[in-house]
Amino acid sequence: MTTSEPAAAVLSRPLLGLGRQQLETWAELQGQPAFRGRQLHDWLYAKGARSLDQITVLPRAWRQQLAAAPPTGAADWIGRSREVHRSVARDGTTKLLLATADGHTIETVGIPAEGRLTVCVSSQVGCPMACRFCATGKGGLQRSLAVHEIVDQVLSVREAMDARPSHVVFMGMGEPLLNSEAVLAAIDCLCTDLGMAQRQITVSTVGVPQTLPRLAELALERLGRAQFTLAVSLHAPDQRLREELIPTAHAYPIGELLADCRRYVAITGRRVSFEYILLGGLNDQPRHAEALARLIRGFQSHVNLIPYNPIAEEEFKRPTPAAVEAFRHALQQCRIAVSVRASRGLDADAACGQLRRRLEASLEPAPAGRS
Ligand code: SAH
Repeated sequence: MTTSEPAAAVLSRPLLGLGRQQLETWAELQGQPAFRGRQLHDWLYAKGARSLDQITVLPRAWRQQLAAAPPTGAADWIGRSREVHRSVARDGTTKLLLATADGHTIETVGIPAEGRLTVCVSSQVGCPMACRFCATGKGGLQRSLAVHEIVDQVLSVREAMDARPSHVVFMGMGEPLLNSEAVLAAIDCLCTDLGMAQRQITVSTVGVPQTLPRLAELALERLGRAQFTLAVSLHAPDQRLREELIPTAHAYPIGELLADCRRYVAITGRRVSFEYILLGGLNDQPRHAEALARLIRGFQSHVNLIPYNPIAEEEFKRPTPAAVEAFRHALQQCRIAVSVRASRGLDADAACGQLRRRLEASLEPAPAGRS
């Protein structure tokens, strides 16, 4: 990690998320030689250790001493979660429900596709944005996730699927731009310590006023470059329809959101990707596509169409395949780069936050004493 945290902060939180140098410092602060930090690094990231107990190269007495005094609020120094449920769809898409040390549950999905393994990670427990079509939005926000809880999700998918993740998308539970610091620190860790490429990482946001240009600046400051993809959940071509689907959009006029996206492009030199959920009969007509094309004309961008995944609480409809195709065609006619997201793992409660909502009621709260 390039961030320099004061020693006290490093000593009071789990190790996952710390870089090689920080782990060396950590070991030294404990009166151990620096190479113990390098050993920790290898076991945390390359070997995926779940507890200090497994790191048998470390002196037993030191491990016992550490185990007796875990960091505040955590069960263990490593900071791994506990898997409480797994569902595997026919196409291999693997959805994990993970318990945090304080007993919250979060969703993480591993999506295999030709030569790729994409991990869809959560950035918060719940979400305050309340998008009407989103299952996570129904329960409100519990809290933001810490760096170790984000990195843990990628390691958990690696372990569950016995394969190395190549891509990470922040499209699970939560609004990443309400947790930018931890999200950027996690990206730093995924790239520096797990060897992923920033270009294979996507951060998806529905838009939070005053955060987009700041994210670009923070990324340059913390990561040295901002090469991950920013995906903006637009979902409507005008303010009125957008507010209908995303009530919190009231505080962020669509014109301002687009102006901030342009600033983001200017600072990072990267094009923005716009996500557009297609809701049958609501925003999926050719006239919506044409209005969308007018709105983003001349923008270095790409549109990703997402056919709606039905959730229990809402009466929105899936778009017909013909409507999806007509929408895509209309955008293409206007020379907008467009793709349609294939529905993956529909039989594994694929829509954001669905598995957790279905299982929440039937699950025991996670005991705080396990990792
Ligand atoms: N808060 C961020 C990231 C989480 S949602 C954001 O809104 O971008 C990730 C993507 O999944 C968003 O584009 C979101 O609109 C979409 N999504 C949420 N619920 C969905 C559903 N039921 N069907 C299809 N896509 C959905």
